[in-house]
Amino acid sequence: MDRLRFGPAGIPLALTKNRSAVEGVRKVAELGLDAMELEFVYGVRMPPDTASKVKATAEEVDVALTAHGPYYINLNSREKAKVEASVKRILDTARVAYAAGSSSITFHAATYMKDQPGKVYEKVKDCLKSIVRTLREEGVEVWVRPETTGKGSQFGSLQELVQLSKDVEMVLPCVDFAHIHARTGGKYNSREEFAEILSYLEDELGRECLDDIHIHVSGINYTEKGEQNHVNLEESDLKYLDLVEVWKEFNVKGIVVSESPNLEGDAILLKKLYYKR
Ligand SMILES: [Zn+2]
Repeated sequence: MDRLRFGPAGIPLALTKNRSAVEGVRKVAELGLDAMELEFVYGVRMPPDTASKVKATAEEVDVALTAHGPYYINLNSREKAKVEASVKRILDTARVAYAAGSSSITFHAATYMKDQPGKVYEKVKDCLKSIVRTLREEGVEVWVRPETTGKGSQFGSLQELVQLSKDVEMVLPCVDFAHIHARTGGKYNSREEFAEILSYLEDELGRECLDDIHIHVSGINYTEKGEQNHVNLEESDLKYLDLVEVWKEFNVKGIVVSESPNLEGDAILLKKLYYKR
């Protein structure tokens, strides 16, 4: 990626009429932002002609796109049919995202269901291998990025995702700083700890990982069990000023997606802080 870009998780709230992905992309550019995540969280429904319009519009106004897959994904489900449906949802997200000009997709891969994390890891790995194989065959070129999750009951620690990235081609983590903070009961909230995350990624996965990163940020409420709900950055304990400084220090490039309730509000806040000299 050419630089660190910022945008909302979905169509900006400021767009009150004609709330389509195409108009959303235009609004993002109008707001001075340069990225947007396409939200397929309740299902992947975007006809091919819409996807190609989204792609053309995003190129025209220089907005980089990512996509978020459906919430109903659990590659560790007890039921085979649900695992198959989860695989299909990830494939469909990738197909539509690619057609719409997105370079990266993210999703919550699995819940542990009280299984041994190592066993769950193997299941997720096998599913991702088959997903990536299918995408290869179809010529769909997107990064497949399981997200760092906000609860200890959900598969998706940073370590698990780094290992998956090593074991499966086309896989890299989507680094959700709010989730990592909540998942660890309030840790990972200082310059040193944010830097530790980026150093770890660079050491394990190479500089390329920081040159094309997919980040999620928001304020977050949490308990010892992890994530409760997302809140705006200014209402949260997340040390986002320090986080922005660490992004600068490491010169990370890629896309930062704001998942705060105010969506573009926090994307604008972070972008201003990042480019402030
Ligand atoms: Zn997510």
